[in-house]
Amino acid sequence: MNAKEVLKTYFGYDSFRKGQEEIIYSILAGEDALAIMPTGAGKSLCYQVPALLLPGITLVVSPLISLMQDQVKSLNDAGVRAAFINSSLTEAQIAKALRLALEGEYKIIYVAPERLDNAEFVRFAQKGTISMVTVDEAHCISQWGQDFRPSYLKIVDFIDSLPEKPVVSAFTATATKEVKTDIECILKLHNPRVAVTGFDRENLYYSVEHVSGKQKDNFVVGYVEGHKEESGIIYCATRKNVDTLYGTLSAHGVSVVRYHAGMDNKARKESQDDFIYDRAQVVVATNAFGMGIDKSNVRYVIHYNMPQSMENYYQEAGRAGRDGGNAQCILLFSAQDVVINKFLMEKKGGNGAGTEDTELIRQRDLHRLAVMEGYCKTTACLRNYILGYFGEKTDAPCDNCGNCQREYFEQDMTFEAKWVINCLAETKGRYGLNIVIGILLGAKRARLREIGASAYKSYGILTDRSETDLRLLIDRMVNEGYVIRTEGEYSVLRMGDISGLKEENARVVVRKAEEKADGAGRDKAGSREKSTDSLTRAGYMLFEKLRELRLAIAREEAMPPYIIFSDRTLIDMCVKVPSDRQGMLAVSGVGENKFDKYGQRFIDGIAEFMDENPDAVMHVEADLETEPGADGMPAGAKQGEHPGNGGEAGGKRAFFTLLRKTQDVLNIRITVI
Ligand code: ADP
Ligand code: MG
Repeated sequence: MNAKEVLKTYFGYDSFRKGQEEIIYSILAGEDALAIMPTGAGKSLCYQVPALLLPGITLVVSPLISLMQDQVKSLNDAGVRAAFINSSLTEAQIAKALRLALEGEYKIIYVAPERLDNAEFVRFAQKGTISMVTVDEAHCISQWGQDFRPSYLKIVDFIDSLPEKPVVSAFTATATKEVKTDIECILKLHNPRVAVTGFDRENLYYSVEHVSGKQKDNFVVGYVEGHKEESGIIYCATRKNVDTLYGTLSAHGVSVVRYHAGMDNKARKESQDDFIYDRAQVVVATNAFGMGIDKSNVRYVIHYNMPQSMENYYQEAGRAGRDGGNAQCILLFSAQDVVINKFLMEKKGGNGAGTEDTELIRQRDLHRLAVMEGYCKTTACLRNYILGYFGEKTDAPCDNCGNCQREYFEQDMTFEAKWVINCLAETKGRYGLNIVIGILLGAKRARLREIGASAYKSYGILTDRSETDLRLLIDRMVNEGYVIRTEGEYSVLRMGDISGLKEENARVVVRKAEEKADGAGRDKAGSREKSTDSLTRAGYMLFEKLRELRLAIAREEAMPPYIIFSDRTLIDMCVKVPSDRQGMLAVSGVGENKFDKYGQRFIDGIAEFMDENPDAVMHVEADLETEPGADGMPAGAKQGEHPGNGGEAGGKRAFFTLLRKTQDVLNIRITVI
């Protein structure tokens, strides 16, 4: 077999993705390799495919037990002989696994780095034939990274102790220059082939929503209810936030679990499993959740609070859409988040006697926070902001993020700004944001009555403005230094340096957003079609049916559903409607072993559906990502009909939407030839 045949037979895919082939061939040629590819790019296949072709065993060093278990399940399911060795096994189980390994039972063995200087394991490694040592999540070797694992440093000595030097391959999604150098040097990669694919994840849609307080809850509840069938992660800054939001969502009948470091191990494991096995749609969690989650069908990641750095954000948001299907990454931002983050940061570093190092770290953290705040406030393309930060060249705005879907306009709020200052003066800076806004709007809250707010001159002076506008304004004034927001738990607003505001030409201008007129906005957001969008109504019904079947099988086998088949594979089944072995093997993600295990049940399910709906049209070729034909039309939709001049995406999309509607209404099949 060659690499392509392995890809098809075991994994069921027809072609390699960007970067994969290069790495695989250099490994097969005996060269060391380092691949830096974003989450979901398909790094695992880069070592799994050659592992099956190399003569001996491939050892994969992996940082987390859950990751290893997931990968091994997945490989076994694909018919690959693989095992893991870590502290979740008893001594007897380990001894047995190593014996079987020596007898040639496994092609791939996952090990925890701690195992590498264990005498028994070293003995095994010296007796067996180790063709390749793969270091997954290789950034763990660098002290510059956030996930430094001292035991990763053992890898080099281990490799040196082997009788014959194996090929060494390393994989990571995060590598700044320092980390990359560390990996190359510490692992002593020998003239490695380095493959860096872009950082961009085209299938992710980014947006930032400026909402605060209760509005955040409303946003989340609304969003989750609008995406009932989809898996999602919601990250909160604190455990308390997690608990509260979890309560709110439960009260709304959402199928939700929670996860944070304050829960005991058992409860955490239960939550994680419920989410992975699709027993719960949504998980609300702190950033303790996620490392080691390879669940491929996460359709959205919402950040309830602003994270502390872009590095954190990109990693957490990147857990959406690993299967390559479209997914959304939404960050809910309120100015309060910045205050909280600074507060947490001070608390973290606050007790030392300010050595040079802690001061450096503090400066770095503050810088990272500022970059993150910049992301929340920029009105330019969000994708380009991220890529730019990670040092990648960018060109035109992406047209697939919240900011690209919005238009910004400026509003002069100088008059209102002066009243904010008056209010702060009158109230002597005693109150927080909510009270100040309440006073200006003339709200009738008990708390305002209590403080005698109606006696202030500024009470109700801005009644006809919206609360959102005033929040934007005050935010702006804080940035300009006219207003100071104190830090800590009970933050109040005080007057800042207003000399600039007294100048004759002083202007306070607020930038406001408006969804673009063509209607691509918030919930149509992820403005690109969803993965299921090429399915007609009937196609979607079949998809639902196959999902249920997958869930039933997953329960029987105690496996996560996405390991059985990914969402993308199910969608491809709905498109291809296979009725026999050959047809089923043509579906992306159906390899031979999986066909033998599950194929017939899915064929039966599809046949049953087609019997009940004999005339159903399942899908419309509207995949804009297929190779354009010479005239710019998607392959399979050559000339004939005249979809405008066929050249630009908008026209195509409109054409296919129309076509789909027509089909749905008439329930007939229209073929575009
Ligand atoms: P990474 O480790 O880079 O985050 P994974 O190795 O977990 O990514 O792969 C992500 C997903 O992409 C998996 O569901 C995998 O099956 C799928 N995948 C990988 N390579 C291909 C390919 N050539 N064609 C189709 N799907 C692929
Ligand atoms: Mg991986």
